[in-house]
Amino acid sequence: MGHLHGDASRRGSRIIGQDTAIVLLNGQGNGIGPGHVGGRIAATGSCKHGQNEGCPAHDKLPSLPSIFRVALGGKSRASISPSGKLDCGWSANSAGPTRVKLALIYPPACDPTAPYPAIPALAGFLRPQGIEVLPIDANLDGFLALLRREPLTRLAGHVERRIASLRRRRALDHQTQLELLALLRVRDDARAVPGAISVALGILRTGERFYDPGLYADAVATVSAALRVVAAAHTPLQLDFTAYRTPFALTTPDEIARDSDPARNPFDDYLTHDLIPRLRQARPDCIGLSVCFPGQLVPAYSFARKLRAAFPEAHLVAGGPAITQVLLRLQGLALAQALGPFDSAVVFEGEHTLLALCRALSEKPSRALDRIPNLVLRDPGLGARYLPGPPAVDLRTLPAPDFDGLPLDRYLSPHLLLPYDPTRGCYWGRCAFCHYGLAATGAARYRERAMDTVVEHLAALSARHGTRFFYLSQDSVAPATLCRLADALAKAGLDLRWGTDLRPEPFLTVERCQGLRRGGAVACSLGIESASPRVLRLIDKGITPTRAAAAVRNLARAGIAPEVMCFTDFPTETFAEAMMTLGFVEQHTPHIAAFIVGQFELTRGSRVARDPTHFGLREIWTVQGDELGTALFFAERKTSKRGRERVQLEKALDRLASGWLLRSYPWAGSLSTAHTIFYYDHFGPGVFKELAGQARGRMLGPLPPARAFDLRKLARAEQHEAEIWHELTHVRRQVSRQAYDELAARLPALKR
Ligand code: SF4
Repeated sequence: MGHLHGDASRRGSRIIGQDTAIVLLNGQGNGIGPGHVGGRIAATGSCKHGQNEGCPAHDKLPSLPSIFRVALGGKSRASISPSGKLDCGWSANSAGPTRVKLALIYPPACDPTAPYPAIPALAGFLRPQGIEVLPIDANLDGFLALLRREPLTRLAGHVERRIASLRRRRALDHQTQLELLALLRVRDDARAVPGAISVALGILRTGERFYDPGLYADAVATVSAALRVVAAAHTPLQLDFTAYRTPFALTTPDEIARDSDPARNPFDDYLTHDLIPRLRQARPDCIGLSVCFPGQLVPAYSFARKLRAAFPEAHLVAGGPAITQVLLRLQGLALAQALGPFDSAVVFEGEHTLLALCRALSEKPSRALDRIPNLVLRDPGLGARYLPGPPAVDLRTLPAPDFDGLPLDRYLSPHLLLPYDPTRGCYWGRCAFCHYGLAATGAARYRERAMDTVVEHLAALSARHGTRFFYLSQDSVAPATLCRLADALAKAGLDLRWGTDLRPEPFLTVERCQGLRRGGAVACSLGIESASPRVLRLIDKGITPTRAAAAVRNLARAGIAPEVMCFTDFPTETFAEAMMTLGFVEQHTPHIAAFIVGQFELTRGSRVARDPTHFGLREIWTVQGDELGTALFFAERKTSKRGRERVQLEKALDRLASGWLLRSYPWAGSLSTAHTIFYYDHFGPGVFKELAGQARGRMLGPLPPARAFDLRKLARAEQHEAEIWHELTHVRRQVSRQAYDELAARLPALKR
């Protein structure tokens, strides 16, 4: 289940079953290709409900998985204080024997509205062991470096010059048609955003203006437009707060190198002029990149290549659910290739592996690393390998996450919302579609912290950081545990406000939901998945639509915002069954605060991928040329929906979604995000229905002149692009730049 997250590919792709915790690395979502082939939601995050915004009715960022973790090093600007924090920004809670300085970096592209739990979890564990940790939210810093007048003015100039250059050509081939199309689409945005961006960011950070729905909508429109300009200026790039992808991303080491070229990487200036100087000053021994979502994968490799060159002596390590998912399915030479610029990588939950790595590096000479469990290393004979260790840590032994050193006053929100993990893993663990990176297959083993400890941690974090907003970020918490926690919080008089994800269990009676509300619950996201009893049985969800409806109703009656997460296209699901899911949402509209209907995507560690025949699949395949294997395709034994039915389904979903003001992640109106929690808390659980139909916002600042170009002819290039990728991934099942170029060359040029 979800959490507060981040990446829609993190969804770089879309989500698949909601509850699914993270990261989907599959064919249409995060993998190779243009990202818009055949999906209701494109990896671009665009869909029909909101210009280039992803439609929340369709996709939700992959909820976080539990936690991810890894390391890297630098020096913080933030000043820290109590308990052993050092003035330079490095921070160690006790003076242990370990002398390693560890910088932990969270790369783009993710949610910049609240901190993510991965690095604070690692810092909370490592600092008391004497490790000096420098946490760097390079996602927030990188986006803030881009979302300013000067860089956006430079990009606007680039857009104009490139348009002029392409228009002077006598004919445009396929790729330049796509490029010109992308540039023309953002031309007006490019002129307006430099002057408007600081006002937009100000609205997002200021309570009074944030809660003005009109101003908020304008701010969202402006920031979204700025991201479109950044992406178009780096065509072919899809970039937003959930996705970062290029068509050949991650297929080969050459493509990884190509994507890290300064001209193709919008974060290169930030890397060169901010992050690297900061790290030079800090002189870390070990630099870790925390790769939690698929949308972080390409930037993580790009960052690592540049850091490798700048810090040849530092140990460079990767970790987190997204990178774990990539590495788990590889071995030998392919695994070595996937390490790329990294010296090592941590698979699964990383606290103990990272501590062992830091301790080994602190010894002079460094101790051999090959006895550290779950640490992937190159091996002269085998390519690369790791010593298997326990995938999950004992949650009861872990301290609270430590947010010190993160720029908590710079997130794009009027209040600070902190993630916290009272539990990890899933107590159910049987859903057939579910797999995320912190377990080899399916969901991670369920664990809970002691209740007194949870209350103590939340009270301390609330007091230290002056906030009452939290997201209880876990895979799937047992409802009974959540009720006990709510009772304990109410008894402690903490007056917190929180959201979380839940299975819609019969346990959630109206009285118990009222208890959750008294304990501070503002919103609960429920993994309904489908309203077809047959599909639910096939998934092994362990609920019925009737029971799910009761949970929705009881939460709503208690004053909590129930968010409903569903998806269509589980293998063998018929059109009628998909319509039952939409019907469920429609029938329970009075109680549903917001919803998402994603689309099934196949993940490797799921039961569906391990036993495809049982789930009605004829075959699953990868494609040659995808050397890291990030894309997974499948075909049903018998096609379950006709093309006409798919169109009908989309239209019905559009109609349904028009009853809410739903937005793409992480904006207010998407599920399980900081902004959405703030809106529920301020306006009440019905806010997104009350705002339905309201104008979706317009760009701040002066209106640019009308477009002088007809885009219709150029737009045909998009259909051609989809056809090329279908040929490569479904017919030839082989991708390469050469094959792509050959197919593109066969297309007619567009002549003046
Ligand atoms: S197995 Fe658990 S975490 Fe996975 S989708 Fe089901 S309830 Fe959610």
